[in-house]
Amino acid sequence: MSAEHVLKIGILEGDDIGHEVVPASVKTAKAAAQMAGQKIEWVDVPIGRKALDDHGHTMPDGTLETLKTLDGWILGPIGHREYPKVPEAINPHPILRKTFDLFANVRPTRSFPDIGCLHDDIDLVIVRENNEGFQPDRNVVMGSGEFRPTHDVTISVRVITTEGSAKVARAAFEIARSRKKRLTLVHKNTVYKLGCGMFVDTCYEVAKDFPDVVVDEVIVDTMAMRLVRDPQSFDTVVTTNMFGDILTDEAAGLVGGLGMAPGLCIGRGAIAMAQATHGSAPDIAGKDIANPFAMIESTRMLFDWLGHNRGLPAALSMSNIMKRGIDAALASPDTRTPDICGTASQSQMVQGILDGMKS
Ligand code: ATP
Repeated sequence: MSAEHVLKIGILEGDDIGHEVVPASVKTAKAAAQMAGQKIEWVDVPIGRKALDDHGHTMPDGTLETLKTLDGWILGPIGHREYPKVPEAINPHPILRKTFDLFANVRPTRSFPDIGCLHDDIDLVIVRENNEGFQPDRNVVMGSGEFRPTHDVTISVRVITTEGSAKVARAAFEIARSRKKRLTLVHKNTVYKLGCGMFVDTCYEVAKDFPDVVVDEVIVDTMAMRLVRDPQSFDTVVTTNMFGDILTDEAAGLVGGLGMAPGLCIGRGAIAMAQATHGSAPDIAGKDIANPFAMIESTRMLFDWLGHNRGLPAALSMSNIMKRGIDAALASPDTRTPDICGTASQSQMVQGILDGMKS
């Protein structure tokens, strides 16, 4: 594909700090695209509380159709817990991930100097299954995977399938292959003999196609402990949905908190969705202090993925330019937000990234 290929990228701001960190991400991506010669058509797609106020629904009619025309999009955090209790106020996450079969949530954790990391040398990526597991809004076709047959009994259903496990395992093996060729399976098949058992067995089936990747296993509770004590001993990790959700927040805590936790939701190759690990952080919204790293880095990951996936050198070049800017900003307290030992506002950090991209 030629460098002239135009990428169509959606902008879905989401809620609260999403109205700050998503525009910041678009700003840095636009600057990098101009420097790299990557043409991008940006498409605003209303979603979340603002969409409810403006269009009467948190995911207005036509949203999925519009997204189907895109190469990927940047999704800001969704603060659905604060939505009014009306049928039009839904949480769009499960619908987006399901509709586009975004079964793997790729969440890297990396140390940077002087930002308050608990270890200086962490560089791992957790690949979290995204569409089944314990998440009751994702693991059934109709109804909910959680129900209350009597007032004092609640049943939560966890769904594990060979297909879902194989898809996320394959994605994780491919990532492991592109890194240090080591993949750790995290599970608890000592207790969940059938569910985690199926996940682990399926991962080993997929492993046959990746003889160059060394596989090991860690039980999830041990993993929670080892992530704190020796996170350097992990490279690529794959796990089921809920375990991945918890472990990625724990991993973020090792390297400066949720502002340092980016993510990319991927499927079989059609599109990808940049989505940071953090929520909409209403406590800091509108104060120009939210750390934009997680969303900007998620955006960089999107262009890196598109560059590899579509064979677009200019998109890869964008990714490199953004990385240069991010690294430069993170290197000085003057261009870091307070959560990562800095003195800058969010806008100053974004400016630091833009300046760093040019250097
Ligand atoms: P969700 O369940 O939707 O993921 P959450 O309950 O984990 O959300 P968040 O909204 O992620 O909550 O916020 C948790 C804490 O982390 C809050 O104190 C918030 O201010 C902080 N936080 C989240 N994102 C950022 C960020 N980008 N920069 C700085 N602090 C952040």
